[in-house]
Amino acid sequence: MKICENEYFTMGLDIGSTACKCVILKDGEEIIGKAVYPLGTGTIGPRKVFDSALTEAKISSRNLAHVLVTGYGRFQFDDANSQKSEITCHAAGIHFLLPNVRTIVDIGGQDIKALRLNERGQLDNFVMNDKCAAGTGRFLDVMAGVMNVKTEDLGKISDAAVEVASISSTCTVFAESEVISKLSNKVRLPDLVAGIHASVAKRVAALVFRNGVIPDVTMSGGVALNHGVVHALENELKTEIKVHPLCQFAGALGAALLAYRKLVKP
Ligand code: ADP
Repeated sequence: MKICENEYFTMGLDIGSTACKCVILKDGEEIIGKAVYPLGTGTIGPRKVFDSALTEAKISSRNLAHVLVTGYGRFQFDDANSQKSEITCHAAGIHFLLPNVRTIVDIGGQDIKALRLNERGQLDNFVMNDKCAAGTGRFLDVMAGVMNVKTEDLGKISDAAVEVASISSTCTVFAESEVISKLSNKVRLPDLVAGIHASVAKRVAALVFRNGVIPDVTMSGGVALNHGVVHALENELKTEIKVHPLCQFAGALGAALLAYRKLVKP
């Protein structure tokens, strides 16, 4: 619905496996509301971010011209007008935030994706691993639990590393045992966390190399908020990674943009 001349409000809702994100755009260019909630599909997460983003935007759901839903749970939301894959939405969202990016590494709660964009920001190719938790946000969440620290503190903790611990198991279950054993052998926490980041980065880099690394390179998804993983991946890829503060919202933002394009270019 158009409230007054030149005002279209579109919502992008990213219902992930682990977290929900929502962005409301005014006229396809200004973010007027956003929300994130650390629960994924099948929970209260989608409704929470839907309501919180509307509150921040100071509009009601009746004012939304189009709600486009993406992510793992995109077909489970009743108030959707349409759905799109998270690959398409992440590409659109990142191109809006960082127009020079050609390589996107998206690490979410349960999968890793590497996307290659062309000069116009369109998706050229992608590879993904959703068969195993190694290298994903879930892996980091499990390790944080074992070490009794918060996932969001991992980056800061790893800043104090002196000697990066070696984590040889890629399997989450075996790596968990390895971390417990290193903790009991008094390996310093920062060294251990840096070792976990290095193990994630190795796993992710193997996937990214299959798709080619063309600069600019960025990370999207919640794990991009962990600067320890970002630096470890820079070491593996031997290139700078530009991270936007809205990295976790890339999919939701892309969804809101694509919703707007549906209205102006049906
Ligand atoms: P989904 O796959 O559900 O879309 P996200 O892309 O939102 O997932 O990423 C969720 C993951 O991001 C979590 O599993 C967690 O490891 C990580 N994460 C979320 N917030 C933070 C934060 N503030 N700092 C570090 N890591 C985070």
